[in-house]
Amino acid sequence: MLSANAVMTGSYDYGEVARSVLIAIAASYAALDLAGRVTAASGRTRAAWLTGGAIAMGIGIWAMHFKGMLAFRLPVQVSYYWPTVLLSLLVAILASAFALYVVSRQKLGWARALTGSFVMGGGIAAMHYIGMAAMRLAAVTRFAALLVTLSVVLAIVFSFAALMLAFDLREETKGTALRKIASAVVMGVAVSAMHYTGMAAASFMPSAVPPNLSHAVSISPLGNNGIVIVTILVLGTAILTSSVDRLTEAEVRRLNEGLEQRVVERTRQLTAANEQLRREIAERQRAEDALRRSGDRLRSVIDTIPALVWSKMPDGSADFFNQRFREYTGLSVEEGLGEGWLKAFHPEDRASSVDEWRSAFATGKPFEFEARLRRADGEYRWFLLRGVPLRDELGNIIKWYGTTTDIEDRKRAEWALQEAQAGLSHVTRVMAMGELVASIAHEVNQPLTGVVTNANFCLRQLASETPNLEKLREAIAEIVNDGTRASAVISRIRALLMKAAPERVELDINEIIQEVAVLVRNEVTRNRISLRNDLAPDLPRVLGDRVQLQQVLINLVMNGIDAMRTLTDRSRELLIKSAKNPAGVLIQVQDSGPGLDLEQADRIFEPFFTTKPEGIGMGLSISRSIVESHGGRLWAVPGSNGALFQFTLPSSANSVS
Ligand code: ADP
Repeated sequence: MLSANAVMTGSYDYGEVARSVLIAIAASYAALDLAGRVTAASGRTRAAWLTGGAIAMGIGIWAMHFKGMLAFRLPVQVSYYWPTVLLSLLVAILASAFALYVVSRQKLGWARALTGSFVMGGGIAAMHYIGMAAMRLAAVTRFAALLVTLSVVLAIVFSFAALMLAFDLREETKGTALRKIASAVVMGVAVSAMHYTGMAAASFMPSAVPPNLSHAVSISPLGNNGIVIVTILVLGTAILTSSVDRLTEAEVRRLNEGLEQRVVERTRQLTAANEQLRREIAERQRAEDALRRSGDRLRSVIDTIPALVWSKMPDGSADFFNQRFREYTGLSVEEGLGEGWLKAFHPEDRASSVDEWRSAFATGKPFEFEARLRRADGEYRWFLLRGVPLRDELGNIIKWYGTTTDIEDRKRAEWALQEAQAGLSHVTRVMAMGELVASIAHEVNQPLTGVVTNANFCLRQLASETPNLEKLREAIAEIVNDGTRASAVISRIRALLMKAAPERVELDINEIIQEVAVLVRNEVTRNRISLRNDLAPDLPRVLGDRVQLQQVLINLVMNGIDAMRTLTDRSRELLIKSAKNPAGVLIQVQDSGPGLDLEQADRIFEPFFTTKPEGIGMGLSISRSIVESHGGRLWAVPGSNGALFQFTLPSSANSVS
C-alpha cells in the first residue's frame, strides 16, 4: 500500500522518447511540406493541401503525445478514456488546420505569424492536456502552474520559429531543403518540448479510489497498434505528398523551362536593344562632338569674314555678333545683346530698322534693308542688312542669321551717277533747246523769206498796169500763211525762253505733235523721209509741260531719222499717231528702220546706252523719266518692221499731278 502523500515517481524509456520526438519531426515535415503548397494553389487543391497538412500535423502531435506517454512508466496501471483521446486528436487537427490556414498566405506578416503560432502552440498544449485528462489511473494528478505555463510558452515560441522558417522564408530559393528540414525539426521540438515540460509539470499521487474504467483502454494496445497505424498514416501521407510533389515538380519544371526560354530570349533581346542603344548614344556623342568642333570652326570662320554677322532670337533680341561686327561698332558682346544693338544704328534709321525687323519676323521671310551704322570712331556708313530664318525640322524659326555689308562706296557711286545724270540731263536739255532754237531760227527764216519774196511779187504786180489778181491773191495768202507760221514759231521761242521749270497746263497732244512736225521738217526733208501724222479727233486733254513733251517727241523722231538715215533698200517712213487710251492718250512713233529685238527694246532705256559714234545714250532714259513724271509710261515694241515707240499720258481728268 502506497502512502497517500508520496508522489509516484515515473521513469522514461528513452528509446520511446527518441521515437516520439522522431514522430513529431516526421509529422511536422509532412505537414509543413503539404501546407507549403497551399499558398500557390486555389480552390479544391488548396483545400486538399490544407486538409492533408492539418491531418498530418494533428495526428503527428497526437501520436507524439501517446508515444511519449508510452515512454513514461508509472508504478500503477494507466488506462485512457477513449472519447477524450479522440477529442484530443480532433483538437490537434483543427488547431493545425486553423494555424496552417492563417500562415499559408502570400505575405506572412507579423499578425498572421503570431496568430498562427498562438493557435498552433495552443493547439499542441490543448491536445496534451486533453490527452492527460483522458488518463484513468489510481492516482490524483497535480500540475505545477509554472511548468504548465512554460510548456505552453515553449509550444508557442517554437511554433513561431518553425512557421517563420517554413513560410516567411519560402521565397528564398537557396537552401530550400535545409530550411524545410530545419522548420520540421523546430516544429517537432515545439511538440516534444511542450509534451515533456507538460509531463514535468504533472505529479501523480496514489489514490485509494479505483479509477472508472468504463470506455477506457490500456495504453499498451492503443500505443502499440494505434501508434503504428498513425505512423503508417503519417508516412503514407508523406509518401503521397512527395509523389504528387514530384509530379507537380515535373510540370513546374516544364513550365519553368518554357519560362526560362522566354526569359533567356527576352534577356537576349534586351541585351541586343541595350547594345544598340549604347551604340546610338556613342554615335550621337561623336556627332555632337563633331558638331561642336565644326561649330567652333564655323564661329572662328564667321569671326574672320569681313562682313558683320549677327544672329537673333525669334523675339528679335540679338544673341551673337561676330568679331568684325564688334570691331566695327566698338560694341562689346554684352553691349550688343538683347536690344543693345540698336545703339549702332543712326538715330534716324532706328525706328525704320525696328519696323523692318518686326515685319520680317512676323512674316518669317528673308529680308533686306539699308541703314546707317555707326563706326567705333563715330562716323556713320551705309550698310545693307540681310536676314534669313533658321528653322527646325518642324518648320519653327529657331533663329535669324544675318549679314551686314558696307555699301557706303556703292551709295556714293550712285549719288555721283545721279548727280552726273542730273548734270547730263541738263546738258542734254540745253543741247536739245539749242537744237530747237537753231531749227526754230531756221523755221522763222523760211517763212520770212517767203513773206519777203511774196511781198516783193505783190509790189511788182501792183506797180504793173495789168496786175494778175489771181496771182496777187495767192501771194498774199502765202504771206499770211508764212506770217502766221513765223508768228507761231516766235511765240514758241518766247515760251521756251520764259520757261525755266516744268509746268503743268492743259494741253492738246495733237497740237504738240503738229508743232513737232513743223520743227523737224527740215531734218525730215533733208533725209528724204516721208513724215505722216495720224491724229485721232476728240482726244482728252493732258496735263503737262509743252516743251518737255515736245522734247520727248523730237527725241523719238530724231532717233527714227537716225535709224533710217542709211536705209537704201526701203522707203523711209515716219508715222506719228495719236489715239484714245483708257487712261488718256496713246502716242506712237513708228519708223521703217531695222527695228529692235527683245533685248535691245529693254536696254535702250538704260542711261548712257548708245550705238552711235557720237551718241550720249541719255535721250531715251530722259524721255522715259519725262513721261513717267507726267504719270505715263514709255516703251519700245520689239520687231523687225521698224521701231515702234509708244507712250501714254493720262487725261487731265485722271492726272494726279
Ligand atoms: P542716243 O541718241 O545717244 O543713241 P538714245 O537713248 O536716244 O541715245 O538711244 C539709245 C540707243 O537706242 C541708240 O543708240 C540706238 O541704238 C537705239 N535706238 C533708239 N531709237 C531707235 C530706233 N528708232 N531704231 C533703232 N534703234 C534705236
